[in-house]
Amino acid sequence: MDYQIFKSDVLILGSGGAGLFAALHAKQAKPDLEVTIAVKGLLGKCGCTRMVQGGYNVALSPGDSIERHFMDTIIGGKWLPDQAMAMRLCQTAVTRVQELENELGCFFDRNDDGSLHHKAFAGQTFDRTVHKGDLTGIEIISRLMEQVRALPINLLEEYRALALVPSRDGAALAGVLLVDMRSGEFRLVQAKTVLLATGGGPTMYRYHTPSGDKSMDGLAMALQLGLGLRDMEMVQFHPTGLLAGVDTRMTGTVLEEGLRGAGGYLLDGSGRRFMQDYDAAGERATRDIVSRAIYAEMRAGRTSPNGGVYIAMGHLGPDKVAQKFPGMVKRCADCGFDLAGGQVEVVPTAHYLMGGVVVRPDTRSSLPGLFVAGEDAGGAHGANRLGGNGVANSTVFGGIAGDEMAAEASAQDHWLDPDEGVVAAAIEQALLPLQHAAGDLNALRNRLLDVMWDDVGVLRDAAGLTRAQTELASLKAELSETGIGGDNRVFALSWHDWLNLRSLIEVSQVIAAAGLARENSRGAHYREDFPQVGSLEESYFTIASRQYDALQVERAPVEFSIVQPGESLLEND
Ligand SMILES: Cc1cc2nc3c(=O)[nH]c(=O)nc-3n(C[C@H](O)[C@H](O)[C@H](O)COP(=O)(O)OP(=O)(O)OC[C@H]3O[C@@H](n4cnc5c(N)ncnc54)[C@H](O)[C@@H]3O)c2cc1C
Repeated sequence: MDYQIFKSDVLILGSGGAGLFAALHAKQAKPDLEVTIAVKGLLGKCGCTRMVQGGYNVALSPGDSIERHFMDTIIGGKWLPDQAMAMRLCQTAVTRVQELENELGCFFDRNDDGSLHHKAFAGQTFDRTVHKGDLTGIEIISRLMEQVRALPINLLEEYRALALVPSRDGAALAGVLLVDMRSGEFRLVQAKTVLLATGGGPTMYRYHTPSGDKSMDGLAMALQLGLGLRDMEMVQFHPTGLLAGVDTRMTGTVLEEGLRGAGGYLLDGSGRRFMQDYDAAGERATRDIVSRAIYAEMRAGRTSPNGGVYIAMGHLGPDKVAQKFPGMVKRCADCGFDLAGGQVEVVPTAHYLMGGVVVRPDTRSSLPGLFVAGEDAGGAHGANRLGGNGVANSTVFGGIAGDEMAAEASAQDHWLDPDEGVVAAAIEQALLPLQHAAGDLNALRNRLLDVMWDDVGVLRDAAGLTRAQTELASLKAELSETGIGGDNRVFALSWHDWLNLRSLIEVSQVIAAAGLARENSRGAHYREDFPQVGSLEESYFTIASRQYDALQVERAPVEFSIVQPGESLLEND
């Protein structure tokens, strides 16, 4: 199969907060470099950064500190975060927010005295979430997009990355194989440095929040290359996904954390407030605790008509709620719910994958030439991501990646020769569904959503995880025999559905295997057969990798490089 070859000094996969910040920083650092963004969707219209509602965590207020933000991140992450990464996140968030405001032109909400307004988010000891109403991501991504469009940066929109291609000797990355989704043609982009910023996105669960273009392609490609993925059992469920019935894609979409932060109540099917039964922090407990509590209420049958629970805000004053959360009120109204004054049905919904590629705090992976940032990178959040630390993570590390990639690419005077065998194999694999008789992709997808929700979801045990492994293996085998009914590659959405499913199943297998390997309960990962947290001092994280087609999960000790369990960086803590 023929493919065209392009060359770029820097290639960025994905145009979320991580990808766009990387592009800007790379171009600003070395304006002569050729920088290319390849993205599966349309610039500014895809990915999850655009969907950010609540806001951006940053320690700017008097009384707050980087150390406090860091301690909240470590404690929220149940002592599993890579501490050097978490510290870099908290430190650089300050510069990044200033950059967003003063250089990119973002307008965040302000107090009467002109200082930035900070809202409360769960699991934090200080109100530090900067925001633009309750639709912060649109402001961030729109300003970033304008800046990127104003620069001579190559844009490959509706280009899907299919495989990371190593050099012939396998010692470094040589480029990326992509498919132009509009024409169906394959393209190889050779690059001196590549950023993987495809944004993870656990869309393999029955209820999920991330954008539809995200299907774990980045992690599936990294796995294929033999790279290690850490913390893959750590799937974050947001407690308050909208539950509006099975016939609408609005089901699963998130109702932001600020609702609980502002004092919203969670009620069971009979209208009883139940969170105090589970945690003293009530509705303001961290996402993992609230999700488990809701799930327990659901299992006990104390549900709303669609099988979830209710969120109620009316006691705070309907006018105030409408003024403070206009986006959420409108979203609920579109589905027939009155958020400001009534009750809205909610359900835990898969929101974020804390796991990702093992990287250093400067975003380098173990393969020279490959950098990873944003939700594709593991380490910063450990067992639980604090609300507001996601967009901080992607913009902070995206910018760092841009600086690092520019420096490295400009020091390199030639492109590496790609391993053509890898390219040929990747094309052959991608074309599989064009050679088989049409099958029911939707049925396979529904089985995937069900098995992940039922057996690898909010509550897990060995029996369920093992059952899931069997079902996932069947799904993988069945998918490889399932065709899309023809060999058209021009804007062939079924073909891309097939490719999405392939990535999702691959990564689901890793989540299930890592879940089975962690025999304790930390943060987002809860084993009913191993409910103990385990020794904090002996905390370990999982690293999954695929070697010769076999999936392996190892454990590695957490390095307490900045603070030990039981200690704090804060005085009087
Ligand atoms: C509804 C919602 C609300 C959220 N609210 C908050 C919040 O209030 N605060 C917070 O901190 N975080 C929030 N988050 C999390 C936050 O959005 C993410 O942590 C962060 O934005 C991820 O940034 P990213 O750049 O890694 O990925 P994304 O912004 O998701 O971008 C990924 C990009 O990769 C592209 N891509 C995917 N696959 C491929 C491929 N194969 N080839 C090429 N391109 C590809 C996508 O099209 C997209 O452009 C929220 C998430 C959701 C879903």
